[in-house]
Amino acid sequence: MAPSSSESPHVVILPFMAKGHTIPLLHLTRLLFLHRSDIAVTIFTTHANSPFIRQSLHDTKASVIDLTFPQNFHPEIPQGVESVDKLPSQSLFIPFAVATKFLQPEFERVIESLQPNVSCIISDAFFPWSLDIALKLSIPRLDFAGCSNFCIIFYDILMCQEFLVDSDDELFSLAPSFPNIKLTKNDIEPEFTHAQPGEHTDFYTDVFTATNKSKGTIRNSFYELEPEFVDYWNKEKPLEAWCVGPLCLAATKVVSSEKPMWIQWLDEMSEDKNCVLYVAFGSLSEITIEQFREIAIGLENSGEHFLWVVRLPSEDEFMSEFEERVKGRGLLVKNQWVDQAEILSHECVSGFMSHCGWNSVLESICESVPMLGFPITADQHLNARMVEEYFRIGVKVVTRNGSVRGFIGSECIENKVKELMDIEGEKGKDMRKNVKKLNEKARNAMVEGGSSWHTLNLLIDEVICKKT
Ligand code: UDP
Repeated sequence: MAPSSSESPHVVILPFMAKGHTIPLLHLTRLLFLHRSDIAVTIFTTHANSPFIRQSLHDTKASVIDLTFPQNFHPEIPQGVESVDKLPSQSLFIPFAVATKFLQPEFERVIESLQPNVSCIISDAFFPWSLDIALKLSIPRLDFAGCSNFCIIFYDILMCQEFLVDSDDELFSLAPSFPNIKLTKNDIEPEFTHAQPGEHTDFYTDVFTATNKSKGTIRNSFYELEPEFVDYWNKEKPLEAWCVGPLCLAATKVVSSEKPMWIQWLDEMSEDKNCVLYVAFGSLSEITIEQFREIAIGLENSGEHFLWVVRLPSEDEFMSEFEERVKGRGLLVKNQWVDQAEILSHECVSGFMSHCGWNSVLESICESVPMLGFPITADQHLNARMVEEYFRIGVKVVTRNGSVRGFIGSECIENKVKELMDIEGEKGKDMRKNVKKLNEKARNAMVEGGSSWHTLNLLIDEVICKKT
């Protein structure tokens, strides 16, 4: 790897303190070094998040600088809690995101003193405050939004036009030329509909305002995945969307001396390939105990094999009895960090019941695993729609009264699991064929000459490393 010099382009990266936001930016860091070996990269984070980032990039020459939150930076956030997965409740997500502005003065002081001079700031979209510094120091800011183009376009229209969505028809009228994804009002979080003005809506308005004043926006997606939406954005908006993903394909395999217990368990299933449903709801999702039980009953009644990675606040009798009953065909991994890509790539795994966080959708595509969407919040409802109706690589749950949001009964979970895992059925075959096709397209996009490879090269030449 060529050393960086005082002449080298120097990129500063600001990942938001949530695993789903940080991980793709770490993959992007690796890619930058692959494309330009003389580049310097400095990542700004905080003390509590630093070990994860340092460990992930230990074999690169990225520098990591830790910023310090002031004492008691928010009355409801305990001292030392510096990432959203550690918050006492996800209702503090937005207050936490807003409070990151306390990092701004130190960030500005340090960035001015960095050598080589900073040529570009790649900031998570959730740090709108980084725009002020970029403008003040005349450094181009690229905004990183790890969502689909489809989702960003909708949110952008809703936020920037202050569109008060009253009916599903009105939602359609926003972008009539889009392929028919049957979005309903319920798919959109209230803060994006201006229905409940307040801290959430103000925050997202700031986010989209900063995006629109940035030099460009980096998307963890690839052109062939959602061409209509990328074209739409680049035609309608003055700032370009650079699709450089799926970034998970730039991940390095973690080599450990001993296989984790859940991989050993999957190995034992190897006799009967394609038989295990992987169940996981990302790094943040909060599931009520009642919903948890319903999922458990649905899984049990489906008769399928499953590996369930679960974030559980507490254990009870129901849990232990359930584990006992499904022993042999169901494994629960409780409150542990797993290597999700490793699980999805296992030959036994042939379905993924997921909250449809955007990273999980991309990771599933990159391992050709069809999905059962169980969206909970944020962009997940939109992603689940895409999975079922646009990519046609999965199915999604519905509530007992047919609406998209709310309590999901065990009978729906049981039926949808059976539908997903029916590898010989017409629908099962179709989903698997479609996800395999997308997988090939994803891999082609990321290799030399592919669309994402080409886009990243252009981005590096035209913005990141451009001499002003
Ligand atoms: N992840 C993981 N192990 C875990 C939990 C999550 O590797 O135990 C990773 C997952 O592979 C993905 C990210 O964390 O890359 C979660 O992002 P996603 O967008 O799917 O969901 P979020 O957590 O942001 O809701």
